[in-house]
Amino acid sequence: MSKVRVRFAPSPTGPLHIGGARSALFNYLFAVHEGGELVVRIEDTDLDRSKREYEEEILASLRWLGLSWQEGVDVGGPHAPYRQTERLAIYQEYARELLDRGLAYPCFCTEEELEAERQAAAAKGEMPRYSGKCRYLTDEERQALIDSGRTPAIRFKVPENQVYVVHDLVRGQVVFESDNTGDFIIMKSDGIPTYNFAVVIDDALMGITHVIRAEEHLPNTPRQLMLYEALRFKRPEFAHISLILGEDRQKMSKRHGATSLIQYREMGYLPQALFNFLALLGWSPEGEEEILDRRQIEASFTLDRVSRSPAVFDLDKLNWMNQQYIKKLDNQELSERLEPFIAATPYAGQVAQLTPQQREWLMEAVRERMVCLKDIENLLPVFFDQPDPDEEARAVLSQPGVRQVLEAIQAKLPLKEDPEEYRQCIRATVKELKLKAKDVFMPVRCALTGLVHGPDLHLIMAVWGRQETARRLEKALAGLKE
Ligand code: GLU
Repeated sequence: MSKVRVRFAPSPTGPLHIGGARSALFNYLFAVHEGGELVVRIEDTDLDRSKREYEEEILASLRWLGLSWQEGVDVGGPHAPYRQTERLAIYQEYARELLDRGLAYPCFCTEEELEAERQAAAAKGEMPRYSGKCRYLTDEERQALIDSGRTPAIRFKVPENQVYVVHDLVRGQVVFESDNTGDFIIMKSDGIPTYNFAVVIDDALMGITHVIRAEEHLPNTPRQLMLYEALRFKRPEFAHISLILGEDRQKMSKRHGATSLIQYREMGYLPQALFNFLALLGWSPEGEEEILDRRQIEASFTLDRVSRSPAVFDLDKLNWMNQQYIKKLDNQELSERLEPFIAATPYAGQVAQLTPQQREWLMEAVRERMVCLKDIENLLPVFFDQPDPDEEARAVLSQPGVRQVLEAIQAKLPLKEDPEEYRQCIRATVKELKLKAKDVFMPVRCALTGLVHGPDLHLIMAVWGRQETARRLEKALAGLKE
């Protein structure tokens, strides 16, 4: 078998969506698993909607996710150019070939005429389909139309009574009848190819062996098969991957929340978590394990384990996974990943003044408490603010014996600034006063932070250091009623 070559071919008409990212990932995984190559091609023939900024954003999103490719618009390669608007002469040449061989014809119909045809079909309850009107024009009629100033589009002559069969690697055998398809445009009158035409030529010339893409392109496949045949190109294998649905089982859309990869990045999802999560949207490995790193996924990804049923985007699962991946980061990595999120809070300056050691303790304190990196904004205040105790904390602090607890802590406050020392100080107080652990921890927490919940107390105390901890204790004792 020839070397596997796959491609991801986004249209730069918006940011990279979850669905697009999943298609890119499956192509990447298939290429890696098969020892093949991935090509990234930009399909920018929709001139009104395509933007260079989107192209850059899509490429940046793919790289952020951890994908790499051997050939493409930004890395070049033997089949350059990889942007369709830079390949127009190639499509024109093939259109000319089809015209010369009588497999395509110029079509002079205006948009208004076509719309009238569509309406007439709809009125009769028929599927709109091009009537084939321009197929039968004589040379003289064509010339007259050209002389009258009309520029034709080029239509492909759909073969009659043909059956096209594709053995889709995910969907199994799919049969299309050519009679369901009217003659379709391959080149618009402005010299720009349509998607179906350009995609076939590019996939063939770029030596693509497997077309792995979203199920929504399945209806385009018969047109593409006809073009492969007409152009005498070898057809690739096809694998149409199922839709991604929201939890309400409707197609994923903005209604379901964030749909672009960039939004997830901005919320503080880790690329390795999304890589894992997206891989499981439609693919499943053998076994029950769900947390799989990229090497494990790359080693086990095959198309025969890609599901035919739609995948459901389960945000709770993504959140859970992200949490697992955050927990796995060491202090250094966590600190680096958190940097932009910390920078966006009012505490950026204070965090910057922490010693490397305090910063480590800060990381240990917050690591287990985040679903997303953005959650850091809710975790930092406890380290740097000192709010008055809230209602719940006030209730704890009004219990009898609180003064005794705080004074015992004060007396034992360690000289060495280390979380373990603070932990021992609290434990020793529990022992000394013969109390339940909770009856020491709670009042101390409430006294020092003003809140009943928060990160581990001994870590917060270590980040504060002895002086700040002592100051807070002092202040809390002064505020006690009795
Ligand atoms: N440019 C098409 C899209 O973004 C690619 C379709 C294909 O993979 O054939 O949907």
